[in-house]
Amino acid sequence: MEGERMIVSVSGGKGGTGKSTVAVNLAVLLSRGYDLVLADLDVEDPNDHILLGVELENEEPVNIMLPFVDYDKCTKCGICGKVCDTGAMLISPDGLPYVIPRLCSGCRACLFACPTNAIVEGKRTIGYTYDTEVKLGDGFRLITGMLREGEEHTPPAVLAAKERALSTRAEIHLVDTSAGTSNSVATAIDGSRLVIAVTEPTPLGLHDLELILQLTQSMNIETWVVMNRAGLGPEDRHEKVVKEYGSEIVARIPYSRDVVESYVRGVPIVLSKYHSKEAEIFRDLVSKLMEVLG
Ligand code: SF4
Ligand code: SF4
Repeated sequence: MEGERMIVSVSGGKGGTGKSTVAVNLAVLLSRGYDLVLADLDVEDPNDHILLGVELENEEPVNIMLPFVDYDKCTKCGICGKVCDTGAMLISPDGLPYVIPRLCSGCRACLFACPTNAIVEGKRTIGYTYDTEVKLGDGFRLITGMLREGEEHTPPAVLAAKERALSTRAEIHLVDTSAGTSNSVATAIDGSRLVIAVTEPTPLGLHDLELILQLTQSMNIETWVVMNRAGLGPEDRHEKVVKEYGSEIVARIPYSRDVVESYVRGVPIVLSKYHSKEAEIFRDLVSKLMEVLG
C-alpha cells in the first residue's frame, strides 16, 4: 500500500466499552508494519494519551467565528435573532442583539442576513489539538482533539484534529471516535475503509451496537465488531444483530485483571503482558486487519 492513505476507525455506541483500549493496542501493533498516526477524536474526553502514558505536546488552538455587533450600524431590525437557530443571538427588550458565545456555532447566518453589515467577524477558541510523539511499538504520532471545558460544539474540534492527522503522510490513520452516533462520530468515521465497533454483552451494549451499525451501514462503511468483556453476559442477540447488518464478530476480549492493570499503568497490554491471552487476541486481530490493509 505504498503511497496510499487509509483510515480505520475504532468506534462504539456506548462510552466505557473499551474502545480506547482497543485503539491503543492496535496502534502499537500496527506501528510495527506501517507508518501510522493514531487520531484521538473523542474530543470531550480524550484518553488515548493516558493509556499510552504520554504527556500531550505541540498544542494548537481550534478557533471558530464569533460575531460582534457594531451598535453604531445596528437598526434593531431583529433579523439576526430570527436566523440564529442555536439561540446564541439574543434580542433584548430594547431591540439590541447580544451574542451568547457558548451557544454560538460560528455558522455566520447572522452575518450574512444583517441588512446593514453591522455584524463583523471575531473568533473564539473552543478547544485544542495536540501532536505527540509516542515511542511505543516502532513509534507513531498521536494527534489529539480536546474541547475546552463547558464548550458544546464538538464537530469543529473533531474536524480540526482529523485534518491535523490527515495532514501527516502516514499510511494508516487509526481514528478513535467518541461514543454514540452523533454528528461528531459521523465526522470522525467519514472516509474510513473500515470501522471496528466495540461493544459488550449487555442490553445497553446491544442497543448501542445496533445504532452504530445503522450509522456505518448508512455511510456504506464495512464494519467489524469486537466483543469486549466477553463472557460477562449472553451474546446470542448481539450475534443476530451483527448478522442482520452483514457484519461479523472478529474478536472476543475477555474481562480480565490484566486488561484493567494495563489501563491503570498506562502501558498497552500487548506490551505489558505480551504472553497473555488478551495480547494474543489483539495480535490475531491485527493479522486479520493486515489482510485488508495489504
Ligand atoms: S440584523 Fe443587523 S441591524 Fe438587524 S438587529 Fe441584527 S445586527 Fe442589528
Ligand atoms: S454565527 Fe450562527 S450561531 Fe452564532 S450567533 Fe450568528 S447565527 Fe447564531
